[in-house]
Amino acid sequence: MTPLINCAIGIDDNGTILSVTTPDDPDHAGILSDARLADRLQQMPSHTYLIPGLVDLHIHAPQWPQLGKALDAPLEEWLLKYTFPLEAKFSDIGFATEVYDDLVATLLAHGTTTAVYFGSVDLEPNVVLAKACLKHGQRAIIGKVAMDHPETCPDYYRDATPDDAISLTRAFIQTLAELQAGGQLLVHPAITPRFVPSCTDALLEGLGDLARQTGCHVQTHCAESDWEVAHVKERFGKTDAETLAQFGLMTNKTILAHSNFVTDGDMDSIALHGSAVAHCPLSNAYFANAVFPARRALDRGLKVGLGTDISGGFSPSLFETARTALVASRCACSGTNPNLPQVERGTGEDALTTTEVFWLATKGGAEACALPVGAFETGRQFDALGVRAGDVTSGFRVHASDSHQDIFEKLVLTANVASLSHVWVDGVQIDTA
Ligand SMILES: [Zn+2]
Repeated sequence: MTPLINCAIGIDDNGTILSVTTPDDPDHAGILSDARLADRLQQMPSHTYLIPGLVDLHIHAPQWPQLGKALDAPLEEWLLKYTFPLEAKFSDIGFATEVYDDLVATLLAHGTTTAVYFGSVDLEPNVVLAKACLKHGQRAIIGKVAMDHPETCPDYYRDATPDDAISLTRAFIQTLAELQAGGQLLVHPAITPRFVPSCTDALLEGLGDLARQTGCHVQTHCAESDWEVAHVKERFGKTDAETLAQFGLMTNKTILAHSNFVTDGDMDSIALHGSAVAHCPLSNAYFANAVFPARRALDRGLKVGLGTDISGGFSPSLFETARTALVASRCACSGTNPNLPQVERGTGEDALTTTEVFWLATKGGAEACALPVGAFETGRQFDALGVRAGDVTSGFRVHASDSHQDIFEKLVLTANVASLSHVWVDGVQIDTA
């Protein structure tokens, strides 16, 4: 990745990038003077660096009040003990409005310009979340969570029937279209079976049909933990990925959260379908007891991006998630058990690099969710961050001896919320104060 020095990015009124030029480009001076004459030139202050906005592929919006706590139980217990009771509370619209306003504002302040959200089971709170994204100007993909299995979902928090879940999902898709009628689409709907264990066969089949009919995004969890993998194997005699494909839920707009335990055959199938993985390294440390084989996935041609997995992950920051992905990969590749000789300790694969985790947080995430963002290239939307070096509250410091590559690596590894001076979505600067 080569940093562009003193570049100019030309955008139109819709925030679409029309040109990216550097001083060597013959058009550069003309583009700058035209923009200046039209009073449309915005120049970055010194020691402020422009990067694409961050794409978070996996967030549970109604788990926001739980961030940073309740991480003492395995997945199947955690859902019933803490998470389902909390998510059910969002049928209180006043509560949902307050929490979602805070969540969207906080994520934008942390640089998440595109957020992929699981909502909750009821319809109305998901509309509240969509309105919060539109109000604050955050690009989003949102799903009404579908879960109807009476053996794995509590009576107080599930769709009563498969038909209920499907018709509410249809209604949500319709409501989002009406909310944005005539305008540029900022918030997109996703068909969202929570995961195979929480859905009946009839629901999985119905949602697969809906995906085919509407062409909407699909999001779900896949092969997250030993428990989940064993549950699906026992019920269907297949892997999670095979089961999702069988029900038509593996499309070129499907985002599979986690996917830690996918087989090589699953990876090939995911790549063939054009589906993507949301790698959530922080929550994997709590709930997966394994590290996602990111190197193998990239080598096999899978689309991969990053997810905070709020609140299975305790950080709202995709910068921190990228660093966790880096550390997790290094641990997996070099190994963790000091009692083993070095050659037997790890996978022996090459660990992810700083450049690669930045790519996962930006362009990789954008490709995974099939949206034209994540890079400064003509035809993509201008979603961007200004990152300032030298602020006392920011860990991001630049010294005279630093090369451009040094500055880039420091930015990825040390920038924090206090380093972010500007946030744009669709070319519109967001007030994150
Ligand atoms: Zn999740």
